[in-house]
Amino acid sequence: MSRFIFIANSKSFELEITGSTEEETTVNTYWVLSPFVTSMNQETGAAQVAYYQQNTEELRERVRDIVTQIKHLNPRINRLTDYFEKELTPNEWFFLSVDEALHPEDTDKILAELMKIGADEKMEKQINGTIEILHKIREVYDIYTFGEYTKACIGEPDKNKRVCRYCHRSMPEVSFKKTAHTISEALGNKHIKTNDECDECNQSFGDTIEQDFLSLFDVPRLIFGIKNKEGYPHKFIGDNYSIEKDANGNLKIGYRMKDSETIPQIDNFLQKVMLTPHRSFPEQNIYKALCKYIFGVLDNNTILNFERTRKWLNGENKEVALPQIARFYHPEVVAHPHITLYVRKKDARRDLPHVVAEIRIINLAFVVILPLSEQDICTYNEVQDYQRFWDFFDVYNKVAGWQFSYCNGLESKHPTVLIKFTENK
Ligand SMILES: [Zn+2]
Repeated sequence: MSRFIFIANSKSFELEITGSTEEETTVNTYWVLSPFVTSMNQETGAAQVAYYQQNTEELRERVRDIVTQIKHLNPRINRLTDYFEKELTPNEWFFLSVDEALHPEDTDKILAELMKIGADEKMEKQINGTIEILHKIREVYDIYTFGEYTKACIGEPDKNKRVCRYCHRSMPEVSFKKTAHTISEALGNKHIKTNDECDECNQSFGDTIEQDFLSLFDVPRLIFGIKNKEGYPHKFIGDNYSIEKDANGNLKIGYRMKDSETIPQIDNFLQKVMLTPHRSFPEQNIYKALCKYIFGVLDNNTILNFERTRKWLNGENKEVALPQIARFYHPEVVAHPHITLYVRKKDARRDLPHVVAEIRIINLAFVVILPLSEQDICTYNEVQDYQRFWDFFDVYNKVAGWQFSYCNGLESKHPTVLIKFTENK
């Protein structure tokens, strides 16, 4: 088997090439490699492939040619055309590696190198800064990412051996028939899935905290066209609003005023609207849903330290001293959710949270401490502890615009979603 790794700032992509015999694998690998050959060694006749290449029209043409010729051997090869035509931008630089083991540190450096091509001095300085920041984090944390390109499901593949990570039950007491999406499918998640989430937990989270969390995303789901199981949603009805997208992509928002409200000045009204989703729930469920997502991607060893968290997610115990949540409206919208997971290394300093995650959903980024680890020396509910954590994560705190809020409330109420309009001049 040969493994092609394409790294680029728009998107990275891996392709495995096999054949029924070793010889066939070599031939197939040569075919796939052929559009990327940059020169031939005059003496030996060996093909040479440059690591850094550009997605030019000529390259796309060579890729199209090869894919047409060999797609019958391996249908997955079609992904290659999509990658260069749709996922990379025209003329974007990418990095190609074949059968080399790349460490996360290498990938960081390659991405930075790619950004530097064509960058001016100021940008180059910024990029070098980013590498340093990541280096500092990696001294304390192992970093894992889950998203559109997460191939394998998380957790035990064999159904007979599965123990649900949320309720600790196994077959035959519970079943594992349904595919458990770690993050709700309606938020665009297709590829992050957890094997060891039983059907009962799947149903119960899906009906409660995940549904509550989802109700805050009516507007972005519609505006940015996030696909769910049934396709693109076109209408949502909240407590005081309806929002609809017609076939031409025009949005219609209906707003029902409460009796106590006076008709606002039209200018003001167009700037800010408070929408109330149809569900009422404790605000803590927002934190719970985010933690349910993080809990779903933990490995077996890490999860052992989060027994109290598990019980809290299940409703077996109540917690009121949780850390703040950091939230940021990201200029870059993601159609598929993404989790960056930070797990503290065994021998690293202990005054930072054991597990932290950044969760990207549509137009929002959340940075969340997974609370209640046995490996934590404090709850991070206190401002000074939280500040120590936030000050360490330069990868986030260097960006202005984060909003912080406690989500501890247990009393059920209607949340409000503020949308701001600006005139398109
Ligand atoms: Zn379960």
